[in-house]
Amino acid sequence: MENFKITVLGTRGSIPVRGKNFSIHGSATSCYRVQAGNEEIYLDAGSGMANAEPLKTSRITILLTHMHLDHVIGLPFFVALTHKDRPIDIYAHERAELLPKEAINRLIAHPFWPVRIASYPAKVSFHLLPQKFFIGAVEVDTLEGCHPGGSTIYKLTYQGKSLVYATDFEHNHEACEALTDFAKDCDLLLYDTQYTSEEYKLYKGYGHSTPEEGIKVAEKAAAKKIRFIHHAPWRTDKDFAQMEQIFEQGDKVAFAKIDEEILL
Ligand SMILES: [Zn+2]
Ligand SMILES: [Zn+2]
Repeated sequence: MENFKITVLGTRGSIPVRGKNFSIHGSATSCYRVQAGNEEIYLDAGSGMANAEPLKTSRITILLTHMHLDHVIGLPFFVALTHKDRPIDIYAHERAELLPKEAINRLIAHPFWPVRIASYPAKVSFHLLPQKFFIGAVEVDTLEGCHPGGSTIYKLTYQGKSLVYATDFEHNHEACEALTDFAKDCDLLLYDTQYTSEEYKLYKGYGHSTPEEGIKVAEKAAAKKIRFIHHAPWRTDKDFAQMEQIFEQGDKVAFAKIDEEILL
């Protein structure tokens, strides 16, 4: 069995935070690196991408869930973009009638940023996301989640093991049924728990979920492990310590921590 591992480079929701109250669960926004044999795949390109040290793989793939700022703002800071002719493939759905390349070029351009992605030394290609495809021996499957403007849920399968990345996902009966089927028997489910159930009452319709709903999906899907992700910007390490007492079940159910490596 070759290596299949995910590293949490950023799991904060909405906006990066700073300070000693965020040292365990982290300050950077959504970015996760998946290593599967020789493949190096990044799930989202939030501010956590600025801290990513690229590996020595021959190509890099970036799978974007959607174009909200907290999922793309780290892209222009990705060190691999400065590597001459390094192949980097970026996949995303069309959102708001913009192809992935058009959406990124709208943001990473004057007056928001001094250079376009095409000006970096790396060889970047943009792709419209197919429903199902392969990156080498890694099978990628997709499902549309429930989020304002849409957000893609990804399933990556390698050597019989699978992880499901469900960020920026709001629970409702239909969406949870679809996610349960999609995540059936997965080895790891990453699930958006931006809000507590109390907070959710104030933020219904904002496109995020709660630990209670995550546990329901994980149990129905018989997911082997779940990590709660996309932490609210106001959630301190102290808050997490209290929530862990309610929700955590050892390695099986936990709140994602910065730099955490999860082996599949
Ligand atoms: Zn987000
Ligand atoms: Zn979003």
